Amino acid sequence: MPAKFSHSTRDHKFILKEWLDLKKVFETERFKGGYSVEDLDFILENAWKGARDAVAPSCADSDHIGCRFENGKVLTPPSTKDAYFFIVNNGFGANNVNPEDSSALPVTVLWALYEYFIAANPGLQTYWLANSGCAGLIRDFGSDELKRAYLPMLYSGQWSGTMDLTEPQAGSDVGDSTTKAVPTGEPGAYLIKGTKCFISGGEQDITENIVHLTLARIEGAAPGTRGLSLFVVPKYLPDENGKPGAWNDITCAGIEHKLGLRGSSTCVISYGDEGKCRGFLLGSPPGEDGMAQGMAQMFKMMNEERLMSGLSGCALAASAYHSAVQYCSERIQGRPTANPKSGRCAIIKHEDVKRMLLFQKAHVEAFRAMALQTFWWVDIENHSTDPELHKQARVFLEINTPIVKAWCSDAALQCISEALQCYGGYGFSEEYPAAELYRDARIYPIWEGTNYIQSLDLIGRKMTMKKGEVFLAWVRHIQEFAEANKDAAGFEKEFEILLGTLGKYMGILKTLQGYLTVPGMPQLYATRVLHATGKLWGAKLLLEMALIAKKKMDELGKDHFDYAFYQGKVASARFFTRNILPEIGALGEVLKTGDSTALEAQESIFFA
Ligand SMILES: Cc1cc2nc3c(=O)[nH]c(=O)nc-3n(C[C@H](O)[C@H](O)[C@H](O)COP(=O)(O)OP(=O)(O)OC[C@H]3O[C@@H](n4cnc5c(N)ncnc54)[C@H](O)[C@@H]3O)c2cc1C
Repeated sequence: MPAKFSHSTRDHKFILKEWLDLKKVFETERFKGGYSVEDLDFILENAWKGARDAVAPSCADSDHIGCRFENGKVLTPPSTKDAYFFIVNNGFGANNVNPEDSSALPVTVLWALYEYFIAANPGLQTYWLANSGCAGLIRDFGSDELKRAYLPMLYSGQWSGTMDLTEPQAGSDVGDSTTKAVPTGEPGAYLIKGTKCFISGGEQDITENIVHLTLARIEGAAPGTRGLSLFVVPKYLPDENGKPGAWNDITCAGIEHKLGLRGSSTCVISYGDEGKCRGFLLGSPPGEDGMAQGMAQMFKMMNEERLMSGLSGCALAASAYHSAVQYCSERIQGRPTANPKSGRCAIIKHEDVKRMLLFQKAHVEAFRAMALQTFWWVDIENHSTDPELHKQARVFLEINTPIVKAWCSDAALQCISEALQCYGGYGFSEEYPAAELYRDARIYPIWEGTNYIQSLDLIGRKMTMKKGEVFLAWVRHIQEFAEANKDAAGFEKEFEILLGTLGKYMGILKTLQGYLTVPGMPQLYATRVLHATGKLWGAKLLLEMALIAKKKMDELGKDHFDYAFYQGKVASARFFTRNILPEIGALGEVLKTGDSTALEAQESIFFA
């Protein structure tokens, strides 16, 4: 069975209307006079219905039929094209990065509803999600001519965008790329030669043209990532009427046969087999020192895609959770422990099933809160004129991004695994949705820089910015929140645990600092420190939301239809703080003992 669309808008409404200060975004020059907080219910419901009715029906084709490669062409599953055009034609595509589009939504809102579209057909996301990043880079760094030729088509989704970094010998090590760019003599135009692999949507039969944003090295540029430049390389060169003209010597040499996301084409792309592939430089050529701008430019797009990966993990974990709740309320098995004589019951009454469901619910709400709060900072950075907020936005974006990407995508897999477990043997069967969700979600910890690369970014770059001051200020936000609320009625235990864990987390940072000069030790612990950071931040956000929810419970009273929602928010925060947060203390102990068994392990033991 394909991943059945089973999502709810309730938590998104809470986050956007009761928790995040969306007014600050709607009041900026960019959004003033457009939508407002009052429109959010309609916007979310409308997108949710679109996801259910127009996108979700394409999911079965996507997973069962998948993409085919025939005679150099990629054939996407039959219903893919309609679902793609439903999204881009209804204002959910790249029109949001068009500064002239007055109907554009803040990214905080847009990404809240993207969760529905991603969940409705995970295999479709790679065709439309990169369009805005691609258009954004051409808008920011392209010449007027490039903007005229490409932007309207990318904004409207008539053409799609891809990001082309990976090569067979250059995966995590992007700096080892060998794709070359040779000047043609015409300003900004180069001949591109090389091969990229794993390119999502690199070839497809949905849009009439594909715009590859490709990293390549101009002759004479520095080695490594510093010497890479970024090029606009279209499949067809735009003609004088802005239509796809001559073929640009780009071929698809094959597609991957994958564990999941089968409806998404993952392509090997060959540039310039006939020596005629033209690429158009974004920004300036490398200076005399050989330093190029491509990687810094590409990071703008990659950071967005990293947040997308975390949010996608959330989307699929949420789908799995909602499906599991439904199943557990229908599946009859066993008798309730407290009253076995009452007869057989639905498994949702069993202690361990409730534990698994609450594990998923609490995590999904933490993922969503992290991702949407970070998108709120993107809106603030892009549109607020408040200098103090602006400064804070940069800090939060730098630190939050690797955590959203890696913690959410890793923990999402644990959640989907728990959802699958709720189904028992049926979860292992493709007849139920958990199996596909598990397969599809497995990509998020891998692409856009593996989660190990994210953890290196966190401990190597983000934690050391301004000699560590910036990161300590980030932790201080959590500390100040905990101190300010430690006497909040009904949450005394939770804040006691949070404050205690903060002490242990600071201990982890101190121990890690001590290992900086010990070769291999920071790397050995990097992933685990990132996970601990995700849990700490997740607990803070869940408690912040629970305080609002508790007030609302008191206001509404037990008989109100929405009482259970707010009660659920409190339960999520309590469960997470009491059950997940203490795991940080265990890591602190492991780190203190400085176990280096894995470092010292002889490689021969793995072959013995
Ligand atoms: C479905 C799919 C879609 C993709 N879409 C795109 C796309 O659109 N565009 C694009 O450019 N790429 C894309 N990719 C490529 C993806 O970004 C890479 O697969 C990823 O960056 C990892 O590179 P690799 O596969 O070469 O793995 P490797 O770099 O070989 O890594 C293998 C393992 O070794 C670890 N490792 C590597 N180096 C180190 C190190 N120095 N220290 C410690 N551990 C290390 C990694 O963390 C990983 O666990 C896609 C991949 C897939 C599977």
